[in-house]
Amino acid sequence: MCYNQHMESYIHILLDLDDTVFDFPQSEKIAFGKTMEKLGIDNVDSICKIYTEENIKCWKQIEQKTLAREDMFWKRWANTFEVANIKVDTPFLEINSIYMTELSKLGIYLPGAEDFLKELRALPGHTISLITNGTSQSANGRIKASGIDRYADYIFVSHDIGYDKPDVRYFECVLNTIKDPDKEHYLVVGDSLTSDMKGANNAGLPCCLFAKDGKFPEGAEILRIDHRASSYAEILNILKG
Ligand SMILES: [Mg+2]
Repeated sequence: MCYNQHMESYIHILLDLDDTVFDFPQSEKIAFGKTMEKLGIDNVDSICKIYTEENIKCWKQIEQKTLAREDMFWKRWANTFEVANIKVDTPFLEINSIYMTELSKLGIYLPGAEDFLKELRALPGHTISLITNGTSQSANGRIKASGIDRYADYIFVSHDIGYDKPDVRYFECVLNTIKDPDKEHYLVVGDSLTSDMKGANNAGLPCCLFAKDGKFPEGAEILRIDHRASSYAEILNILKG
């Protein structure tokens, strides 16, 4: 591996998946629609909005360790149908299972993401890791369905590791696998303040906040954000130095 030591050189790119290179809302919407179809429930769009919010709430609680990941599997459905005021006979865990099966088939790239990954892959002397908070079934299924694994040296799914971003133990597992002790060689790239940026801060790793639409989330001032990028080209520029 060859690089100029006098330049800022990131060698190991730790790339978040959802809303960084994958269009999660799109996958979620399709999987949700198919699940409701199987349950015979109409008015899918308004319920999907509720589900999206309840699911995000559950994941925030997992990040904050106020909810166990296993409980999320039924809780997001219980909350959704309670807010939507809909009675369902199918057990929540069964609904979750239908949904996860559908979701695991859907790995949808954001516009430009696959070209970005190809350019990233072509950069000499770099490693690419996919870092994602997700369940084994849906994350690994979506990775396989998209074929994104062909661009990655390493894949870290939180459910497989046993810790979720921003837990420092998640990032310790990443560093132990890549086996480069110099933290300045890593760059965490992601859209989330609470999992990606906070995780990078917790682990002492450089980070780049990505907002594909240029709308950066509020609340960044309490964190160390080393770079900001609102396009894939900007991320590549940071890496090329
Ligand atoms: Mg994300």
